Order: sequence, then C-alpha cells, then structure tokens
Amino acid sequence: MTKSNNKKAKSTDPTPKVQAKSKAKQTRGVATNILHHDLEYGTAHGGIHFGIDPSVTFGYKDVNDLVAVFQNRQSGYAYSRNSSPTTGALESKVTVLEGGRSSLVYATGLAAISSLFIALLKEGDHIIVSRYLFGNTYSFFNTLVRLGFDVSFVDTCNSKKVLEALQPNTKFFFTETIANPGTQIPDLTGIAHVLAAHKKKGGRKIISVIDNTITTPYLFKPKKMGFAFSVNSLTKFIAGQGSVLAGSLTDLGEWKGLGDENILPSYQNLKPEDCQMVQVRKKGMRDLGATLSPFGAHLVALGMETLTLRMDKHLENAQAVATYLEKHPKVAKVHYPGLKAHPQHAWAKKWFKGYGAILSFVLQEPRRRKNSNIKNTGGFSKNDPAYQFMNALKIIIRSSHLGDSRTLAIPVAKTIFNEMGPTGRAQMGIAEQQIRLSVGLEDQRDLLNDLEQALAVVKL
Ligand SMILES: *Cc1c(COP(=O)(O)O)cnc(C)c1O
Repeated sequence: MTKSNNKKAKSTDPTPKVQAKSKAKQTRGVATNILHHDLEYGTAHGGIHFGIDPSVTFGYKDVNDLVAVFQNRQSGYAYSRNSSPTTGALESKVTVLEGGRSSLVYATGLAAISSLFIALLKEGDHIIVSRYLFGNTYSFFNTLVRLGFDVSFVDTCNSKKVLEALQPNTKFFFTETIANPGTQIPDLTGIAHVLAAHKKKGGRKIISVIDNTITTPYLFKPKKMGFAFSVNSLTKFIAGQGSVLAGSLTDLGEWKGLGDENILPSYQNLKPEDCQMVQVRKKGMRDLGATLSPFGAHLVALGMETLTLRMDKHLENAQAVATYLEKHPKVAKVHYPGLKAHPQHAWAKKWFKGYGAILSFVLQEPRRRKNSNIKNTGGFSKNDPAYQFMNALKIIIRSSHLGDSRTLAIPVAKTIFNEMGPTGRAQMGIAEQQIRLSVGLEDQRDLLNDLEQALAVVKL
C-alpha cells in the first residue's frame, strides 16, 4: 500500500473499498482478476507483486489514529495477529475471487471454520451440518457438541432431511460443495428454498456457510446460491503446490449482521456490512490466534496466479482417471461427479464449471474372503487389496492431503476416518477398501499406466 497508515481513511476494512474501486472486475475473467489485483490494490515502488511486510506492529504519529484503529473507526494496522498489509492484500484477492464483500485469511482452512463458529455462536444455538464432512471439520463439530451445542448431522443431498432437522433455535447451516472421499453433492437449490421458506414463516435467520475447497471459486461461486459465507482451505487447489497452509473466510454479503442477536453489543455500532466480519476478526482470528504469516500469504498469492491453468488440467486428468477406473474389473465402485452414474451428476453439471479433481474408488473384495470381517484395527494385512494396490504405486504418492500438483493416494478408512470407528465410517458411507485420489498435473498417460500396473498386482 503506498498510502501511509498515518493518514485518515474512511473504511474500517480496506477490502470493500478495493472491491468497489473497479466495475471492470465484475466482467473480467478469474485469471485476469487474480493476476492484476495487486496492482489495483496499490503496491510500493510499482512492484507487480504486493510486498511482504513482516512488521508485527505499526507506529502512528497521532495517538488518536491508533485509538481510531483500535475502535474500528479507521482502517489501519495495530498488531499483525489481527491484520497486516500482506495478509490484507490476500484477503482482498480472495474477495474478488469469491465475488464477496470482504474476507479474512487464516493459518489454515480449519482455523477459518473454527474461528467463524467460535466468534458467532451464541449459547443455545442449534447447527445443521452435512453428514459428509472433511474428517477434521467433523471432529470440530463434535467438539462443539461436547461443549454443549446442539448439532444435527444430516444427509444434505436430500433437502427434506434439512427441513426435518430445523428447530426454532437453528442458527447455522454448514455443508461442503463436493464431499470427500464420497464426492456427495448437497441439494443446493432445495436447501436454499428450505432456508428461505423457514425465514418467510417467521423463523430465525439461518446463517448458511459452505466449504468451497474442493470446487474453488473458479468452479463455483456460492454467492449465486445465496450462501452467507464461503470458506476455503487455501492449502489445497488455490495455493496448489503443497508448500503452505492457509485458509479463508469470505462474507458474501447475504447476511446483514447489524441488529442480529448473535452480534455482540460492542460491534453493533459499526456499519452493517462490517459488524459480523469485525466480530469474527476479533473474537475469532485475534482471540484464537490462528493468523497467517505475511510469508505464507505471499506464497498463497503466488500459487493462486496459476489456479485456473492448474484446475483445467486437474479436471481433465481426473475425468480420465475416473473413466479408466470405472471400467476396471478389480474396481467395485468409483465416486466422481463427472461420471454419468454419479447420483448428483446432473446437479454438478448445472452448478459447477467442472467436477473437481477428487475421486475415490473401492477395490473388489478378494473372492476367498468375501463376507469375512476385515480387521478393524492396526495396519493392513498383505492380503488386503488396498495394501497390494497402494504399495505397488510408482508415480502416485502414498500420502494424505489433496489439491497438490502431484497425484496423491490414501486408503481412507484406516487413516483419515480411523478415529471415528466402524460405526462412524458406515454412517458417512466410508468403505474399508476405499482409496481416495487427489488427481494431480502429471502427464495423463503416466498416471493411467501407474494405475494399470498397480491394479495388476492386486490378487482377488
Ligand atoms: C483440507 C480441508 C480443510 C482444512 O484445511 P486445512 O488448510 O488443512 O486446515 C477443510 N475442508 C476441506 C474440504 C478440506 O479439504
């Protein structure tokens, strides 16, 4: 930012101002917006990247400016656990990407999710969440249950289940766009109707939140479906290259927090568009301390520059891998929204610009062991198809994580979903021989060859 923090500024948050600066942005493509946003934001010395500012604290000539920053009456920085110029630049870039009002960036995606709920929940609130959740997000909602919150885990593919779960004290709804590893897609249109009808009938305003990580704002804009907030694990496709952890929360402008019972009195004197995000910045990011470093923010911004290019290639490779696996005799089931057999294929086609690069498949059980119980604890036996397949891979990496440039494979039941036990897994639709693939950017033929030789090793 060329402008000094010592000067008076009108907004409490630089993000919406930058957002409003250019009408052209609304019509420009995603790639152009990402690549040119830094310059519009204003960089020092004409740098074409926003600089990395490592300052922990910021000094003021006039003490009243420092006071005004503390009181949210003036934009500026006080202590970088709350906000800093480099993370601020990334926040405004994420806002443009999501088409939202303002954003916060965090040390991780989970920090964005937990910070939102810790900051905005009020005693007695009921939350409806998808039953198909990223493992650690599921774990977080169970912590809320342990702390006394009422949480309903429902099958969001069926909007009737959301309707049935509604209570007079329901305050939040949370889902993911494409769940992993099962790739279930919620009935976004049906749920939007259910929530709107609830409000119309005099029900409490329900704040709807969506995790856009698997689709990214390139493939899907949650704002179009009326969501109040979008969260992203920037660690995944957005940064893309597996070398930085980060997350974001975007206010999509759908909820006017002012006057809402969940907004604390100290944030009620702000502009309506600022109050909820100021509350999340203070009660969530500041108090929990899961702040992204300026260096981390720079790495995310750099990775983001190739998001659209990478995503196009991810999609192409994932479709080829899913199509190949679907035809393979040793594969019992493939979960990928790009396949016509996927139960929500038509929705994905209508709502998303692509089907994502996460898929999972279940290997056939060996004949000699059919119906026998697989050991539920410890590692794999050497007779397990998943063991044989996984250890035979030569290019695809045996690893957790997703959205990396490299193709990654993981047997989910014994790893990510191990903690929840067989009952929890059955409820989430996780099979014991299920393998998740995050399809990367390798040459397609090499990926298909690797799968072929590894499947050839599996003895049924
Ligand atoms: C990885 C992931 C998260 C958590 O993100 P981190 O950056 O690892 O904390 C949340 N949701 C989904 C869908 C994810 O894939």
